[in-house]
Amino acid sequence: MELKKTEAIILRTRDLGESDLLVTFFSSLYGNLKGVAKGARRSSKRFVNSLSTFSMVDVEFRERRSGDLVWVESCELLDGFPGIRSDYNLLLTASYMVEMTEVLFPSNVPSSEMFQLLRFALGSISKRQNVDETMISFQAQAMKIGGFGINLSRCSRCDRQYKGEGRALFHPPSGSIVCLACEKESVVTPGMEPDTVSALHQLQSSDRLLENRLECSDNVVRELKAVLASHIEHCFGKSLKSAKYLHPVRRQHPTPTLRF
Ligand SMILES: [Zn+2]
Repeated sequence: MELKKTEAIILRTRDLGESDLLVTFFSSLYGNLKGVAKGARRSSKRFVNSLSTFSMVDVEFRERRSGDLVWVESCELLDGFPGIRSDYNLLLTASYMVEMTEVLFPSNVPSSEMFQLLRFALGSISKRQNVDETMISFQAQAMKIGGFGINLSRCSRCDRQYKGEGRALFHPPSGSIVCLACEKESVVTPGMEPDTVSALHQLQSSDRLLENRLECSDNVVRELKAVLASHIEHCFGKSLKSAKYLHPVRRQHPTPTLRF
């Protein structure tokens, strides 16, 4: 079988027998890959210090004649993102990002855009750069890349166009905003100030993918967290397993404001 090579991020590893490892990657060219690294638990020049969760590597592999597993031939470490391993909360954040990537892109669904986003996000949190903002950017952009962008242009009930004025609500079943004439604000239909809608729009715009310059107020961060948590839970039918270990979303009562 032909030898293939791609950049990849290691999502997890598991012992296999006495000396092998079962490794799950998210690769730039082939999406999610699961493979056997023969002899990786013994000292092996082919895998020197490269098979740790969250590491970015150059991997060489061959497909097997049958089954979904591949043979991992060699692995070279490109970036181990060491900052993630030195902080428990960063480990949880990285676990959440990895889980979301796997849910959105199961086996044999490649997305180089998603790979770049995951790499960028792991790099940012490893350097402890704006961890909250990075998480929000990752969630919004991953959902968009996966085909679950939020419709911010008009109310899904009455079709009224949103012109960037007044408070709008997020309506999870339609994946869209709704106006305050059509729906009441609640835990399941969280509200957004115009600044929040604008920030989400910027995050979802394709020319801003992979950038991480979400500079906004605490209120915008709080509202985006609530909206994205509702959206992700509704799309996947449940919270991600790793989400329950992260900080819960704190909800605040909105101050009276203009209606959309
Ligand atoms: Zn409406």
